[in-house]
Amino acid sequence: MAFRSGRHFLQIPGPTNVPDRVLRAIDCPTMDHRGPEFGHLGMEIIEDLRYVFQTQQPVVIYPASGTGAWEAALVNTLSPGDRVLMVETGHFASLWRKMAVKFGVEVELIATDWRHGADPAAIEARLREDKAHAIKAVCVVHNETSTGVTSRIPLIRGALDAASHPALFMVDTISSLASIDYRHDEWGVDVTVAGSQKGLMLPPGLSFNAVSEKARRAGEKSKLPKSYWDWKEMIAANKTGYFPYTPATNLLYGLREAIQMLKDEGLHGVFARHARHAEATRRAVRAWGLEILCANPEEYSNTLTAVMMPAGHDADALRRTILDAYDMSLGTGLGRLAGKVFRIGHLGDFNDLSLAGTLAGVEMGLALAGVPHQQGGAQAAMQYLIECQREPAKQRVAA
Ligand SMILES: *Cc1c(COP(=O)(O)O)cnc(C)c1O
Repeated sequence: MAFRSGRHFLQIPGPTNVPDRVLRAIDCPTMDHRGPEFGHLGMEIIEDLRYVFQTQQPVVIYPASGTGAWEAALVNTLSPGDRVLMVETGHFASLWRKMAVKFGVEVELIATDWRHGADPAAIEARLREDKAHAIKAVCVVHNETSTGVTSRIPLIRGALDAASHPALFMVDTISSLASIDYRHDEWGVDVTVAGSQKGLMLPPGLSFNAVSEKARRAGEKSKLPKSYWDWKEMIAANKTGYFPYTPATNLLYGLREAIQMLKDEGLHGVFARHARHAEATRRAVRAWGLEILCANPEEYSNTLTAVMMPAGHDADALRRTILDAYDMSLGTGLGRLAGKVFRIGHLGDFNDLSLAGTLAGVEMGLALAGVPHQQGGAQAAMQYLIECQREPAKQRVAA
């Protein structure tokens, strides 16, 4: 590897850049997780996480990647043979579906073209047909990280309500929590799945379930085997700030610091910043003459933008050029989008100049790789960022 000066630009949509404050918080001696000091840390974090999920319900923390929290959501609520309704919004939604199938859950799938989010009308229509209430849960990915499309969770809640259907509502917020407005309680979600390494600005290794009272009641009857993921033991131990098995102590130090940063900025400010950077990015893409994968402006993601390559050009060749020349990582196309799109992550510990640098790197890479485009994308984004500084009220704030 050639020597590289300066900082690497990690502009994939997770894991994201970890702020120095968080790195320093993690860099501490590991404490006794059964000792008195740990109980205080545990209580503080368990309480403060509710702010991030906008909930008064318990939030369970696992030493696991996001995939573990998917599994926890399923095994704590369902029984073999249960029917669930899922929407295939992209690669991550299909992975969650695959997992459910492995557990012997019957998955009904609503397909999409991977350019739109979950359609509330289609969900409502399916639930209305299910007069016998065979469907036990509706599972949706809030922000589909493979496509840059954000499903409208309040409208989907509305679909369940309009159909008067008692199914549990489970939502994957792994790439939206702490970046895009998300309200576990107000939006009537039963299980929220989240991870540490995206909007929460931590290294990979923690994941979460926020759990409604209704989900816990469903858990009483659920027959899928569970031990490591069992909410009951977690929630019982968490009452005093402890965990049933060794928690990821040092990541929890980081989590405490990350939550403090989110509080310092305020969730509203965090959401507005992500909305601003997403809008600036889309202006750059349009100025380049390239196409945004998300086809519905109401569903644009504020944490990443997936950009379609002109026909005959390989997204991974462009990514390679940008990595080699400018030491920047961009997200690859996943599943059926392999080679066809690249993804710009604009989430987490990020500011106007990090975005300007990111977009400059993409624009220089497009030129270097010989991808047909127009110059001026980074300039268009900068112009928008200037306008936002002059007139903050003009910013497109998250819905
Ligand atoms: C990253 C991501 C996952 C997978 O999380 P891991 O930590 O890799 O297990 C699942 N869903 C979404 C929406 C994601 O962005």
